[in-house]
Amino acid sequence: INILAIESSCDDTSAAVLRGKEVLSNVVATQKIHEEYGGVVPELASRAHQQHIVPVVHQALAKANMDKRELSAIAFTRGPGLMGSLLVGTSFAKSLAMGLSVPLIEVNHMQAHILAHFIAEDGDGDGPQFPFLALTISGGHTQIVLVRDYFDMEILGETLDDAVGEAFDKSAKLLGLPYPGGPLVDKYARQGNPDVFSFPKPKVKGLDFSFSGLKTSILYFVQRETAKDPDFIKKNLKDICASIQKTITGILVDKLKKASKQTGIDRIAIGGGVSANSGIRKALQQAEKDEGWTTYIPKFEYCTDNAAMIGIVGYFKYLEGSFADQAVSAKARYGIDG
Ligand code: ATP
Ligand code: FE
Repeated sequence: INILAIESSCDDTSAAVLRGKEVLSNVVATQKIHEEYGGVVPELASRAHQQHIVPVVHQALAKANMDKRELSAIAFTRGPGLMGSLLVGTSFAKSLAMGLSVPLIEVNHMQAHILAHFIAEDGDGDGPQFPFLALTISGGHTQIVLVRDYFDMEILGETLDDAVGEAFDKSAKLLGLPYPGGPLVDKYARQGNPDVFSFPKPKVKGLDFSFSGLKTSILYFVQRETAKDPDFIKKNLKDICASIQKTITGILVDKLKKASKQTGIDRIAIGGGVSANSGIRKALQQAEKDEGWTTYIPKFEYCTDNAAMIGIVGYFKYLEGSFADQAVSAKARYGIDG
């Protein structure tokens, strides 16, 4: 089974070719334009997708050494995401499937962040055994999900305000770092001491999260310290980043422990762009020892947005014969549970 997958939910245009669960190619075109604006500008994103999609798909097919007539189906991200961005991938996938007379498969982007664990070259390819807990941490989401089966997922907890990726990006912005700042906070954190500064952890009931308070306390911290010494951030950047990263990691791991106790499940998978974070990856590995968990951490390229993860979901749906109609439309708000 050969699947061409297309992802265009936010600011990365991506296409991948999978043979079964094996990724033959996974091409990602990242949009640089948003850096200037300090965040994703939806109008510019959808225009950039239009420019990128044809070359990206061609490149994915070429790299996979696959002729489009060999494709069994076309999978695409239906949502959630930015409407204008989603529309580009959706229309492209629909026309291609129609032109090739192959089935069309719609994919939920957040399910894909979780099911990326089943990509063949990622570990043993079997992925975690069901049921497992997934922590999806990305630019738009922060969720603890009970995954009973490929398409049977239940949200146990989620953020009440900012997503954890936003928390990283907004903290970075307060420190004067360019967008998206998450990876930069990570980079400096690796060279800093996490115990120099401390930030309060929010008290949120149950398995939900909140990150807006952290952002505010970082803002006050920066204002207070730079009033005393204008070069404070420059001098302490690494330690500040390490301290912020430690706080965020602590918030996430505390809730995971709670979720694991509550459900009795000790198979824990992470997914989404923020699971590229070195502090979070390390904390999870540590929890294998401390908590006796079996943890699943995706390869870097399958953490941030990519079409390979859309392709693996497409593969499972293909096996089920779960195909979309040509009348299917993009869905900006699309829950993980359908
Ligand atoms: P969603 O999946 O919720 O629709 P998205 O697709 O925009 O959102 P992803 O591409 O999955 O989000 O993740 C992007 C986010 O991950 C950004 O906020 C980025 O800063 C963050 N991120 C990426 N790498 C790291 C890292 N090493 N440390 C911290 N944050 C990171
Ligand atoms: Fe994403």
